[in-house]
Amino acid sequence: MFHIGSHISSSKGYAAMGRQALKLGADTFAFFTRNPRGGNAKAIVPEDVEKYREIAKEHGFARIVAHAPYTLNACAAKEDIRRFARETFADDLNRMENTPGQYYNFHPGSHVGQGAARGIELIAEMLNDNLRPEQTTTVLLETMAGKGSEVGRSFEELRAILDRVKLVEKMGVCLDTCHVWDGGYDIAGDLDGVLEEFDRVIGLDRLKAIHINDSLNPLSSHKDRHAKIGEGMIGLETFRRIVRHPALQGLPFILETPNDDAGWAAEIAMLRSMAEE
Ligand code: FE
Ligand code: FE
Ligand code: ZN
Repeated sequence: MFHIGSHISSSKGYAAMGRQALKLGADTFAFFTRNPRGGNAKAIVPEDVEKYREIAKEHGFARIVAHAPYTLNACAAKEDIRRFARETFADDLNRMENTPGQYYNFHPGSHVGQGAARGIELIAEMLNDNLRPEQTTTVLLETMAGKGSEVGRSFEELRAILDRVKLVEKMGVCLDTCHVWDGGYDIAGDLDGVLEEFDRVIGLDRLKAIHINDSLNPLSSHKDRHAKIGEGMIGLETFRRIVRHPALQGLPFILETPNDDAGWAAEIAMLRSMAEE
């Protein structure tokens, strides 16, 4: 079963996101839990969530992949930025329980000169302070492009975080195709090899979602500039292999391409036909 969707605006609530997903031909989606740059989240209305659940059930939606704001930096050097990350993360986890059993994806963080080892420690610390045995949400670490001082630029760094998390069964990984390519993993030349490496270092059982994006830049560029599917340096043929790869079957695929609604609908239709041909 192939599940695909794009990022959708959360400004009109859950039911509106479900309807918008249907309009795009999607059966999963991503949304920002609050403004991507941070700030307050919208109040959750139970009837709205209930309406969303009906839509999702009727149309066989896969798990949705909520995205934390970009400003959440669990390994900032400044105490007040780390506190904001912690509070936002805790609040988002509480809110996620309104739609039980979904994914919450976040960028591990940027260590801003403290070094990756210290970054990894601080990220694991925030996770250990906030994960709860009773939560139904699975928290996903996103693979990063390695721009600036981003932590999570290699599979080893993600594994190092996971190794320090006590409730590691509440954790998973979201693989962003643009980010791993920019990070130096040659998914165009050797997709099998990259997935084997992921399996060896992290474990494919921990891979829960894919951000499916082309990249404007060459392998190992560490730039993180997304391109439309087939219009970047990863190329269409690789995406055909990705959506058809046996190791990735059943995962939610999320587009974060620079597009409008018509563009996302077209990408969804194209990738769906590739996956199912
Ligand atoms: Fe992201
Ligand atoms: Fe991403
Ligand atoms: Zn990105």
